[in-house]
Amino acid sequence: MMVIIMSTTSPSPASAEERTEAVLIDRKKADAPWRDVLDGAARWEVRIHEHGMIALVDVMPRLVRGEQTADSAIVQAARVSYGSGTKRVQEDRGLIRYLMRHRHTTPFEMVEFKFHVAMPIFVARQWIRHRTANVNEYSARYSVVPDRFYVPTADNVRKQSRSNRQGGEELIDIGTAEEFLDYLESCRKQYARYEQLLEKGVSRELARIGLPVNVYTEWYWKCDLHNILHFLSLRMDEHAQKEIRDYAVAMFELIKPIVPVTCEAFEDYQLGGVTLTRLELEALRGGQPLATGNKREQAEWEAKRRKLGL
Ligand SMILES: Cc1cc2nc3c(=O)[nH]c(=O)nc-3n(C[C@H](O)[C@H](O)[C@H](O)COP(=O)(O)OP(=O)(O)OC[C@H]3O[C@@H](n4cnc5c(N)ncnc54)[C@H](O)[C@@H]3O)c2cc1C
Repeated sequence: MMVIIMSTTSPSPASAEERTEAVLIDRKKADAPWRDVLDGAARWEVRIHEHGMIALVDVMPRLVRGEQTADSAIVQAARVSYGSGTKRVQEDRGLIRYLMRHRHTTPFEMVEFKFHVAMPIFVARQWIRHRTANVNEYSARYSVVPDRFYVPTADNVRKQSRSNRQGGEELIDIGTAEEFLDYLESCRKQYARYEQLLEKGVSRELARIGLPVNVYTEWYWKCDLHNILHFLSLRMDEHAQKEIRDYAVAMFELIKPIVPVTCEAFEDYQLGGVTLTRLELEALRGGQPLATGNKREQAEWEAKRRKLGL
């Protein structure tokens, strides 16, 4: 019979003093004065609709040298790969635009933004699908949900689109819009019952489940620039629901002054660009209709042709 004896002893960990002595930190001075990219503000906030807001509360890098912008962190990271070369502002711009055009994405991950957002739950449900962010949400298990509801103005009640499954831009007649707003009024009655039931001792985690999806929630949302641009390309697009688009547009305005060169490249190559498929290229070259019977693809080609001025 073989007996295996396992030792439970391991080398004793170094004491705190020994560890501290072993690490020598060289605190190097910056070669130019630092500038806060948020100009010393606690937050940059934009109000959205009646009760919502999006606030930029922190940035990495928060401090940049001299007149630089946070674009400099992208350039710095890229030059680890591409070599330092010359460092004039114009060349930094060229490098960022090159990175964007050729989808060299990791340098854009070197910049991070942290937002504080208050939005209706139906917007949060769409937003949370973007999995690459770090999120901490207000808990309706621990706190009472405030009585804030998203109610569109009558001139914002949109008609169901005939061409796709989403709401279009076309407005419904004023009578139906008012009927819809009256229907939303019922959320206030439901909220009053929520409060009454809390008072009677029903737990917060259960009482909240009767609240509608237009009630507001809040979260801190931190994400790197590469994934923010991906979020913006989807949520600033005309196919995104108007309510989340309003937040995405405000987010873009908040980051623009921090990373202006990147945002300009994003507008030039992504927001303002058109990507063509092989079928579309062939149709363009041959002056032929698109070689597909798929109605949706044909409609998309028509939209691209209009954008191209054809
Ligand atoms: C107009 C519109 C309509 C939509 N309609 C619906 C709908 O009807 N139903 C529905 O369910 N959703 C819908 N969505 C949500 C959509 O399908 C995506 O879930 C959402 O847009 C997030 O996109 P993403 O996964 O690219 O982004 P993120 O989660 O931010 O991820 C960014 C990128 O990281 C990579 N990534 C992240 N996580 C993973 C992973 N686990 N594995 C592999 N790669 C990963 C992918 O490349 C991804 O593109 C809709 C979105 C839009 C914009």
